[in-house]
Amino acid sequence: MTRAAAPFRFPVSDLLGDPGPRRQVGIDTAVDWSVELSRVGPRLAADLTLEGASGGVLVRGRVETAVTHTCHRCLIEWTEPRILAITEVLGLDDDPDGYPLDGDVADLEPVVRDLVLLDLPLAPTCRPGCLGLCARCGGDLNTGSCPGHEEEVDSPFASLRDLLEP
Ligand SMILES: [Zn+2]
Ligand SMILES: [Zn+2]
Repeated sequence: MTRAAAPFRFPVSDLLGDPGPRRQVGIDTAVDWSVELSRVGPRLAADLTLEGASGGVLVRGRVETAVTHTCHRCLIEWTEPRILAITEVLGLDDDPDGYPLDGDVADLEPVVRDLVLLDLPLAPTCRPGCLGLCARCGGDLNTGSCPGHEEEVDSPFASLRDLLEP
């Protein structure tokens, strides 16, 4: 065994059948998955039922983890719990997009990772109407740490001054 631990892998040869028996399994492991502005972890837990079905293995249950998002406007970070339901069949030969079995082992990592990552927002936003950062000074427009630059921007001489300054 080259792997020190394989928390997502479960032997299922005893479950293959139609209908096959079922078994409860649990996952509790460290994960560090990220996409763009969202990071999943540091831990993930799942309570799952594995059940033989149509020559494959039906996976049902609940996945719990946490996601740390970075607001795409103001770059503030926050962490929120995620609880997701999973229903997926592994090992169906007639499903080219499905998840294969690895011999008689169900590797649930791709299934669970896809479930969690596909649930992430494309552009995390810390709150509705987040104003973001000032493009001139980088101040957070939500907290007023930008002093405001309206006078310069609105001045009819602003563009002229830009031209004259080296
Ligand atoms: Zn924000
Ligand atoms: Zn500013």
